Amino acid sequence: MNVSSALEILKNEGYKYTEKREDLVVFFAKEKRYLSAREVLTYMQKTYPGMSVDTIYRNLTLFRDLGILEETEWNGEKRYRLSCATDAHHHHLICLDCGRTRQIEACPMDNIPVYDSDFEVVGHKFEIYGKCGECQ
Ligand SMILES: [Zn+2]
Ligand SMILES: [Zn+2]
Ligand SMILES: [Zn+2]
Repeated sequence: MNVSSALEILKNEGYKYTEKREDLVVFFAKEKRYLSAREVLTYMQKTYPGMSVDTIYRNLTLFRDLGILEETEWNGEKRYRLSCATDAHHHHLICLDCGRTRQIEACPMDNIPVYDSDFEVVGHKFEIYGKCGECQ
């Protein structure tokens, strides 16, 4: 995902293209890491002092629903990052200090024999948490 494809999705889905939304996407594209709503709010309030936390949450939820952002959670806070550009199935190593991620191609589901049972698998989540080289 990059800024222009994110704005393209908004347009195609009939959402208004506003400067605030563009600023939000540009911020995620620049940071390239998981950000909490609080971090996003602090950044956005530099330009838009009156912006409420509700507005931030509404936009983050919308962007997540549209596939522009990926969402996860740790230490009791939801975090968001720009969705990966690749469609290839993969998982992430996530640094709990800075929110940066690294891609891992291996999938643990390959070793879990659920497909033989009568349970229909429709998806899974798998993330590895830790500290990146810079944060150690
Ligand atoms: Zn990824
Ligand atoms: Zn880190
Ligand atoms: Zn997987």
